[in-house]
Amino acid sequence: MTAFVFSEPNFDHHEQVVFVSEPKSGLKAILAVHNTNLGPAMGGCRMWNYASEGEAITDVLRLSRGMTYKNAVAGLPIGGGKSVIIGNPKTDKTPALFEALGEALERLGGRYITAEDVGTSPADMANVSRKTRFVAGLGETGDPSPFTALGCFVGAQAAVKHHLKRDSLEGLVVAVQGLGHVGYDYARRLHEAGAKLVVADIDQAALERARAEFGAQIVPVDSIYDVEADIYAPCALGATLNPNTLGRLKARIVAGAANNQLATADIGEALRQKGILYAPDFVINAGGIIKVCYEYLHKPESEVEAHVRKIGETLAEVFERADAEGVSTSVEADRVAESRFKK
Ligand code: NAD
Repeated sequence: MTAFVFSEPNFDHHEQVVFVSEPKSGLKAILAVHNTNLGPAMGGCRMWNYASEGEAITDVLRLSRGMTYKNAVAGLPIGGGKSVIIGNPKTDKTPALFEALGEALERLGGRYITAEDVGTSPADMANVSRKTRFVAGLGETGDPSPFTALGCFVGAQAAVKHHLKRDSLEGLVVAVQGLGHVGYDYARRLHEAGAKLVVADIDQAALERARAEFGAQIVPVDSIYDVEADIYAPCALGATLNPNTLGRLKARIVAGAANNQLATADIGEALRQKGILYAPDFVINAGGIIKVCYEYLHKPESEVEAHVRKIGETLAEVFERADAEGVSTSVEADRVAESRFKK
């Protein structure tokens, strides 16, 4: 199959799409700069065993656009970009591969700054940094996940206040899907706030820990959608809000960390019609990029938490405006982002 860029449905007037091939290391990568109106583009580097070049192009176009929206709504002075390396992260990684990526970033002269993502690690970014300074998230000051979890927690509080007219999470039932880096820390905060947890994961050890530490009730992976919960917190996979799960959800709020939660854009409106308040994924899960951006720009670490906590206020505004305009929260969040980055 021939792969196209301009005619790809996810192509959205990306400023620059760079194909990188470096035979010595075997690097095959695509770097996409979606929009730099607010500053240099920032977004992670994903390494994935794509079945085809077309799949890699689709992914990098979609993800880089998403970063523009996420960074703009988070009020960061950066634009949106992303990169993908075509290869198996378990078998194809070498220091030379990431050094070659660093050289490609250097040629872009700072228009795009990378960081870790699915399939890459702080150690890989350290290899990138041998060739360029346009890389963030080197692991010097730790994992961004706790900040993503904090953003989800303040986002859940904002959603509960808006939709359930309550100031506290005490006694609410939260169905947490995925107890990984973000989900576990988010669950801890929810537990400390008095919420009751129902959890699902494929990792038995994480489940047992949550049961022991938080008194969480464990349900099978596919049953999480059927839980009689107040909040559904997707913290594992994308596209879990889809025609199959929509009819099953009992929760009145969706507030979780996963990227690309809506299988298709129209699901945002379907959730609204069902009276379910959806905290748009790219608004609620921006805590990690806020942390990485502060680190890269050498802004005071002591100010990161206050910035992440603003996610609650931003969501409250999105919810109110969506109500006032009679649109879904996902449409409203897109509008907020576009009002900031579109010139
Ligand atoms: P992670 O890999 O640490 O955790 C994912 C968890 O989901 C794991 O415990 C895994 O066992 C579990 N899981 C996998 N398949 C599952 C299934 N079918 N049902 C239930 N659980 C399942 O990832 P993470 O860093 O915690 O990120 C979670 C989500 O949040 C991802 O979608 C990620 O893209 C998104 N996100 C993460 C960050 C961050 O700072 N880490 C920032 C923004 C968005």
